[in-house]
Amino acid sequence: MRLQEFPRHPLTFGPSPVHPLERLTAHLGGASVWAKREDVSSGLAYGGNKTRKLEYIVPDALAKGADTLVSIGGYQSNHTRQVAAVAAHLGLKCRLVQEKWVDWDDPVNDKVGNILLSRIMGADVRLDPHGFDIGIRQSWEEAIAEVEASGGTPYPISAGASEHPLGGLGFANWAFEVAAQEEQLGVFFDTIVVCTVTGSTHAGMIAGFAALEDLTGRPRRVLGIDASATLEKTRDQVGRIARNTAALIELGRDLRDDEITVLEGWAGDLYGIPVESTIEAIRLSGRLEAMIIDPVYEGKSMAGLVDLVTSGEIGRDSTVLYAHLGGQPALNAYSGIFD
Ligand SMILES: *Cc1c(COP(=O)(O)O)cnc(C)c1O
Repeated sequence: MRLQEFPRHPLTFGPSPVHPLERLTAHLGGASVWAKREDVSSGLAYGGNKTRKLEYIVPDALAKGADTLVSIGGYQSNHTRQVAAVAAHLGLKCRLVQEKWVDWDDPVNDKVGNILLSRIMGADVRLDPHGFDIGIRQSWEEAIAEVEASGGTPYPISAGASEHPLGGLGFANWAFEVAAQEEQLGVFFDTIVVCTVTGSTHAGMIAGFAALEDLTGRPRRVLGIDASATLEKTRDQVGRIARNTAALIELGRDLRDDEITVLEGWAGDLYGIPVESTIEAIRLSGRLEAMIIDPVYEGKSMAGLVDLVTSGEIGRDSTVLYAHLGGQPALNAYSGIFD
């Protein structure tokens, strides 16, 4: 099927805004830097990249007659908050497994930010002591079985909606949205910078931009910045989902290895723990652009962008699009860093 033929349930206000980051660009003194804002494109509990993925998953959930969305993430998962929001919006129940993915001993880590919002929206939130893993989790399978045992019809959504067969479509569509905005704005983004952890955001972009390259003959770089600190797993998952998504939208060729780029160097040692470059990037983006980014994801991808532009790895004549994927609610659990 072609991408346009997959059913899509709109959950956003429309295309996410694209705008230049003029003060950041001047400060870095190199490539011209723009942002595309998933953080301000939906009215459902602050939105974010998972909302866009869910646009392609909701039609399947509704077709299957589900009454409960079941998903999993860390205590401060943006993904589970967006699943809770979509469930509330659709009038479905929501069962969330929140694992201790991040050993972050802020006393309100399991009370504020994302988890607070999920509770407000009526999700059945259960804490679980297990650690970080982007794969399929037993606790999630148990939650699905429990919903079934109590007479419900669960609809399982894996971590980050990434292992879901349709998980890559939202950001394949993002690529086409970018192309339409480029035409309106009269720009061409030769480099995209995006944070990657469970992989389907970056993977979907890879598939979508590959299809665009085949249409226009104009290549570009889609640089994934790892924030998982489990690089090999994320790299494998991005490659696998990119190839699956490319097949799903009938790209008609295999992806080249150079189309799948996950860069390391800004994740630190652990998922969810900011390092010095993360905190500097958060302050820089806040001070220069009033663009708020989080310590788990976007602070790390922005740190990558800053280094790649200042080192000239992304050249002076480049026009870069920074994908802002949301995630600010988690900041509430990291207030101690900015005291
Ligand atoms: C989930 C998330 C990411 C990573 O996206 P994946 O598709 O899991 O790789 C990046 N930024 C934010 C704010 C997120 O919530």
